[in-house]
Amino acid sequence: MQEYNPMNYRPTTEEVAETAREWLARRGVTITQIAQLTLMLQKDYYPDLTLEECEKNVEAVLKKREVQNALLTGIQLDMLAEEGKLMQPLLSIVRNDEGLYGCDEVLALSIVNVYGSIGLTNFGYMDKIKPGIMKRLNNKKGDEVHTFLDDIVGAIAAAAASRMAHNHADGDKD
Ligand code: MG
Repeated sequence: MQEYNPMNYRPTTEEVAETAREWLARRGVTITQIAQLTLMLQKDYYPDLTLEECEKNVEAVLKKREVQNALLTGIQLDMLAEEGKLMQPLLSIVRNDEGLYGCDEVLALSIVNVYGSIGLTNFGYMDKIKPGIMKRLNNKKGDEVHTFLDDIVGAIAAAAASRMAHNHADGDKD
């Protein structure tokens, strides 16, 4: 067997997709919880919208490589902060989710942008009110750090809402 060398290791598309989903689950976030945020955002526009339809759109968002990359990066930084493995002063900044940090929101924007700028308003709205699962991720109690994940979850929900709006507008199923 060939010796493992991180410098020339190339993960497969499936490995990246599966790992992103695994990490999301391991951090206590379900597809249904994200879909509930999407439903909250869209129910005034589509009164017949179901949670199942929202789940389908969240699943579609999670298939995008940009989304998987943001998930892996954000969760990894949260985990390193939890374990005290970031260097100072970044460790304190990420652990305490300092108001002026902002890189968590910027990383999440790479998810929102996958479906164009119409997701921006929804993302900003959720960042402000932090509904549902975002509230638990943002409560800053105990030793858990979710500085990046709360924004990522909000961004996935906003992207799913944008995807829905695009598909309703032009029947595009991408
Ligand atoms: Mg945050």
